[in-house]
Amino acid sequence: MRKYFLLLCLPLLALLCAAQTPTNYDSITSTVDKSENPCSDFYQYACGTWLKNTEIPADQSRWGSFSELAERNRMILKGILEKASADKPGRDAIDQKIGDFYDACMDEKAVDAKGAAPLKPALDRIAAAKDKAGLMEVIAHDHLMGTNTFFDFGADADLHNASMDIAEIDQSGLTLPDRDQYLKDTPHNLELRKSLVDYATALFKLNGQSGAQAAESAQTVLRIETALAKASMDRTERRDPKKLDHKMSLDATVALAPDFAFNRYFTAIGAPAFTDLNVTNPDFFKDVNAILASESLDSLKTYASLHVMTVASPWLSKPFVDANFEYRKALTGQKEIQARWKRCVAATDTALGEALGQRYVELTFGADGKARMLKMVSALEKSLGEDIQSLDWMSDTTKVEAQKKLAAITNKIGYPDQWRDYSSLTIVRGDLLGNFERANEFESKRQIAKIGKPVDKKEWGMSPPTVNAYYNPSNNEIVFPAGILQPPFFDKKMDDAVNFGGIGLVIGHELTHGFDDQGRQFDPQGNLRDWWTAEDGKKFDERASCISNEYSNFISVDDLKLNGKLTLGENTADNGGARIAFRALNETMTPTQADAKIDGYTPAQRYFLGFGRVWCMKQRPEIARMLVLTDPHSPGKWRVDGVVQNMSEFEKAWSCKAGDAMVSANACRVW
Ligand SMILES: [Zn+2]
Repeated sequence: MRKYFLLLCLPLLALLCAAQTPTNYDSITSTVDKSENPCSDFYQYACGTWLKNTEIPADQSRWGSFSELAERNRMILKGILEKASADKPGRDAIDQKIGDFYDACMDEKAVDAKGAAPLKPALDRIAAAKDKAGLMEVIAHDHLMGTNTFFDFGADADLHNASMDIAEIDQSGLTLPDRDQYLKDTPHNLELRKSLVDYATALFKLNGQSGAQAAESAQTVLRIETALAKASMDRTERRDPKKLDHKMSLDATVALAPDFAFNRYFTAIGAPAFTDLNVTNPDFFKDVNAILASESLDSLKTYASLHVMTVASPWLSKPFVDANFEYRKALTGQKEIQARWKRCVAATDTALGEALGQRYVELTFGADGKARMLKMVSALEKSLGEDIQSLDWMSDTTKVEAQKKLAAITNKIGYPDQWRDYSSLTIVRGDLLGNFERANEFESKRQIAKIGKPVDKKEWGMSPPTVNAYYNPSNNEIVFPAGILQPPFFDKKMDDAVNFGGIGLVIGHELTHGFDDQGRQFDPQGNLRDWWTAEDGKKFDERASCISNEYSNFISVDDLKLNGKLTLGENTADNGGARIAFRALNETMTPTQADAKIDGYTPAQRYFLGFGRVWCMKQRPEIARMLVLTDPHSPGKWRVDGVVQNMSEFEKAWSCKAGDAMVSANACRVW
């Protein structure tokens, strides 16, 4: 199960960025539309000029401040990779790996000349399986290459002993992003299923099946994936870690779902010996066992083949790339495929993130950045501590425990202390799919090798150039890659007010994740343990349901409303983060500073403008529909308006009045 709570979601392929005139963040007013009334719609006020002047680039499905920053990072990475790919004598090991990976990816001619050939060994292995148990051994091999055929296997921190990693199997096996897209017959979902069938048909044809055969194969895939979707727990339910907590013996797991041939699978994938594992969703494995038993070996092979082809198709010849893009277009609304260099920069970051990242931080991240960031983090931690003490709904008993958890939170800033060692990973010029498969295998094996070992607390879950941040409840840590420590989040030239609204809010957001409806279930050591009195737990739930009901009424696209329960943790973190960042700002200012205006705005107003502009964002209707279903984050507009209407601090800063849209009559507050 993925336990990282991110600042924002990057769906499907990382959202890469097109060349577009970037917003000038030197003035806080550059995105503002002064003809709007901040008390009526603050997002429109803070982002109005940006919204007017910005088009989503054709090769993007959404666009915002995050994308503009990611675009700048992307250009830096491109420069690094072009330099490293020049095959000069004396290149060091890092430049050889990242340079040759990028070069193989950019060599479109060589890739096109090979056609479907690089896929053949993997498809032949599936075809050669003699029985279903033999097929599970082949699937173990496919999992190493990055497929999600039937289920996922890996290592994760033990929910009850977070200092140790244990084996875990989790539901998976779908091609569309969400189970509901198979099960709910809305017109949009029917279209998505059709594009999945078209995509699968195209891939089977490219591998030599006749039109009729390929269409039948695609229907087989849809039938099996629909059955997997039915067996899957929905995304909202999966937000409760208690529902994913089922540690079982290996013997009991084998008995639960005998057709998975787990003993042969674990041997084939090279897992170290273990006796217990977490089975996140035992019902899924029981139900899928029935699918394995009832479907023919040929049908299961057809399904497994599609998964091998889907993972490989973006890195094969043009017809495969085009088929893959047609399918993504239907999902996201993106109009044009990205330039190849953008796809190749992203692929290198995924494959060799801590090698490429090492070069990136050498160029961009100075020691002063880390020092300023540490100061901000400690200001925000102090502010959250005071916030907890001031809560009128929480008992002293729970407050003591909450303070213990806060004091135990650790932080990571910029980049890892110890870089990942890629020396055992072979990267070859001219072998794109081979590089891609070996990089996936390297990562899968690295994960599997953790089973039964102490958790590596120094590990990072994101590469340094990433424009994002996260909270990991098992480590009770907040993590900020160097990529996000730049304008508009963090700007050395700006006053504190703007920076507290930007990166201060981000820090506050991640800290609050430790205390949202999921995070609060983990203790200071990262174990799933209830440290709340029953009475305080009940009061927390009442306050959380105020937020959940509030956001359930916000519209994302057309008449489609947000799922307040799916987005509860993120909305709680947005609200708590904004409040404690504002509190932290006020503590740094003298009364004279608090009255001093810059560009006509008080520090309090500049704080809210700094916060608002971070979320200026546009998205295409297709991806908006998908994100409502899959993304635990609210869209930009509600990450701003949803928060400020709950804050009396906002009302005061902008002299709004009761009855204004940005002053909620029923303001929600957890933290
Ligand atoms: Zn978050």
